Amino acid sequence: MNNKFDVVVIGAGPAGYVAAIRAAQHGLSTACIDAWVSQDGQVSFGGTCLNAGCIPSKALLESSELYHRAKVDFGKHGISVGELSLDLATMQARKSGIVKQLCRGIGALFKANGISGLGGRGRLLPDNKVEYTPHGGEPELIEAEHVILATGSEPVELPSVPFDGKIVVDSSGALAFDMVPERLGVIGAGVIGLELGSVWQRLGAEVTILEAMDQFLFMADDQIAKEAQRQFKRQGLDIRLGARVQALEMTKSGARLAYEDTQGGHDISVDRVVVAVGRRPCTDGLLDPLAGVDVDARGFIDVDSVCRTTAANVWAVGDVVRGPMLAHKGSEEGVMVADLIAGEVAEMNYDIIPSIVYTSPEIAWVGKTEAELKTAGTAYKTGTFNFSASGRAQAMDQGAGLVKVISSSETDQILGVHIVGPMAGELIGEAVVALEFQASTEDLQRTIHGHPTLTEALHEAALSVDKRAIHAINH
Ligand code: FAD
Ligand code: NAD
Repeated sequence: MNNKFDVVVIGAGPAGYVAAIRAAQHGLSTACIDAWVSQDGQVSFGGTCLNAGCIPSKALLESSELYHRAKVDFGKHGISVGELSLDLATMQARKSGIVKQLCRGIGALFKANGISGLGGRGRLLPDNKVEYTPHGGEPELIEAEHVILATGSEPVELPSVPFDGKIVVDSSGALAFDMVPERLGVIGAGVIGLELGSVWQRLGAEVTILEAMDQFLFMADDQIAKEAQRQFKRQGLDIRLGARVQALEMTKSGARLAYEDTQGGHDISVDRVVVAVGRRPCTDGLLDPLAGVDVDARGFIDVDSVCRTTAANVWAVGDVVRGPMLAHKGSEEGVMVADLIAGEVAEMNYDIIPSIVYTSPEIAWVGKTEAELKTAGTAYKTGTFNFSASGRAQAMDQGAGLVKVISSSETDQILGVHIVGPMAGELIGEAVVALEFQASTEDLQRTIHGHPTLTEALHEAALSVDKRAIHAINH
């Protein structure tokens, strides 16, 4: 093996593999080391995102949504399917097939770009040397002009509710259940709790989500969060806010969770527990103390605005550094860092990172919320449009939810777009481009949107900012 590279990336998740591909595109000799091993014992590039995160969760969300719609909605369309049955093993096999295909795709991209994809663990030593230990092999020394750390994150464990991998599981366990639990307890009503809670609820589980905070989806715009909460309640997701879990007791059939809220102490009995209370950066065994890379109090690698660490020519990207733990945020950091290493000018706009929750309805937003603008003392105006007035949404039988546009009262610039409704995750793309190009509300108002499309809801919400909506009464 060549033991000298221009760039060595540790971690082949969406931050690391993207950085490696971009570096190779610049003509830099590049290696990417990753420790992930699939269930069948194969090196599997793609990190959490492809192996145990974004992709398998979306595969199960899609399957469970189809099952749910066949059960609940098909009748409205005049479609009768007789008795519906669920073959969970096939559903899980489909998910695993997608994961395998995409992970292999990363390996193929490495080959096509001349990147050395190395299965095993990486450790940063002083002077940009990397100790690489192949699976089942002896450590080797690799020299690098630049090192990019992209080791991602792992689930936080609650001391009072430790994982046992069977009854009490993390998100990976919850993606791999081989039967639908009758009663599922989820701790944390964040993105994972809502997405995976939705999967199992659609497939027939009675799902209770215990959330420590009093506010539902505190990071989203209040109006959007309230509408989403209303929809989830209608679907039968039992979300209990202000619930502080005190203890876990294992029972014959599962577990009992004791929690406290303002009303006092309660407990729930469930068959399985998913703990989804956030993730923490993954740096165990990664950094030699003499390598000069500082880590902050919460374990994140310290970086500046362009992802430089405290050690010369050592960079860090993705979940292992500050900022939202999102695949697309890490990928964009990877591109920026590779461009900077290649001598290009590069930066990243951290104010315009879209967030998407893939529930039904989906929730998506970009830019500022009303609460953030109030706190900052920024004068703003808002417009909303309900999907109930969208012809396309009605045709899809998905008329719940709304689009909200928030703009500056002084300059008319769009400051934030917030959506709860059908395909919100796709619709938000238009808003991201509008914000990136600093569009005014009038720009969006005068942009022609195809008919009938869901994008018309965004157009109408922009019109509504100036009380010019056509298909709604302007208040
Ligand atoms: P990771 O993807 O975690 O990759 C890090 C890689 O580094 C891993 O392969 C790991 O094995 C490897 N590694 C760690 N230490 C070492 C070492 N010392 N040597 C060698 N290799 C090492 N984000 C979204 O944007 N959209 C979604 O829909 C979404 N859904 C999610 C669903 C779930 C269930 C979960 C858990 C997460 C989801 N996320 C989603 C978050 C997303 O997966 C992460 O933000 C993203 O994977 C982070 O990318 P990364 O490259 O920084 O790290
Ligand atoms: P999260 O931060 O989104 O939510 C964790 C939730 O758990 C919070 O609401 C928090 O208040 C609550 N919580 C914390 N401690 C608790 C306790 N002791 N008892 C009850 N509730 C408690 O974290 P997550 O859902 O675990 O997801 C981890 C990361 O993965 C997130 O940063 C997220 O961005 C990312 N992710 C993204 C997507 C997506 O983009 N669609 C999907 C899944 C995961």
